[in-house]
Amino acid sequence: MAEVTWRSVAPGVYVRRHDELNLNCGLVLGERRALVVDTRSYHQHGVELAESVRELTDLEVVVVNTHAHYDHCFGNSAFRDSQIYAHVGAADDLRRTGEHQRDQIVAHMRSTDREQIALDIESTEIVLPFYLVEQDTELDLGGRTVELVYGGRGHTDHDLGVAVPDAGVVFAGDLVEEGADPMMEDAFPLEWAATLRSLTGKPSTEVADVWVPGHGDVVDRDFVDRQTAQLTQLAERFAEVLDGGLAGVDALMSAGRGLSLQDQTLRDAAVRALELRT
Ligand SMILES: [Zn+2]
Repeated sequence: MAEVTWRSVAPGVYVRRHDELNLNCGLVLGERRALVVDTRSYHQHGVELAESVRELTDLEVVVVNTHAHYDHCFGNSAFRDSQIYAHVGAADDLRRTGEHQRDQIVAHMRSTDREQIALDIESTEIVLPFYLVEQDTELDLGGRTVELVYGGRGHTDHDLGVAVPDAGVVFAGDLVEEGADPMMEDAFPLEWAATLRSLTGKPSTEVADVWVPGHGDVVDRDFVDRQTAQLTQLAERFAEVLDGGLAGVDALMSAGRGLSLQDQTLRDAAVRALELRT
């Protein structure tokens, strides 16, 4: 197993890849403040992340949650002294679904014999982000400005990217996924591609060729464009079936085949597309 460590992807920009879920967290160093992107799955994980940040810098830490899925924000309790940023929809979502997410993940850990992790998640206090943004927002870290960017609804209705324009890096959260399919359970399958086009077309992002997905290997702009193309085709095929009327999960799934997406992904996307139609 590779050592879990911060890896530099540009000057003063680091990625820490974790074994659990291949999750990526980010660290951007300014002259006055350091920005941490996402906080992992539970308190102890967050503590370990915070300690690893302290090995690199003593600067004041600010945090961004890319979205409200537990693996990106349940570690917030280890960053209580920090300003925690997110999209306003992320705070709403976490308030609404936090305990349900906890129940689900605890049950999953128990059913796979990971009692200690189940206990850790049970005892984690869910800490909501409280610096909330609705549109693109610049954060001055001292000598370096990052931009929180919102492209629209995609993986969730509140995904924020974090652009570091001077370094050509974007942290994309789960809007970009490497090594696994885009996760559709809370997604907007007909809108995701347009959201990615919006996200990649901003002045702060269009210069970037280092894209950090929420999970998996760091990728380049071509990879993001290919994922956008794949999601564009999925949306077009789904729209065609939905426009034809009488669409069901099976019809949508067959329309989506041949795009290198797993059946489970197509099923989740189909269910979401039907839910959202009403
Ligand atoms: Zn997610």
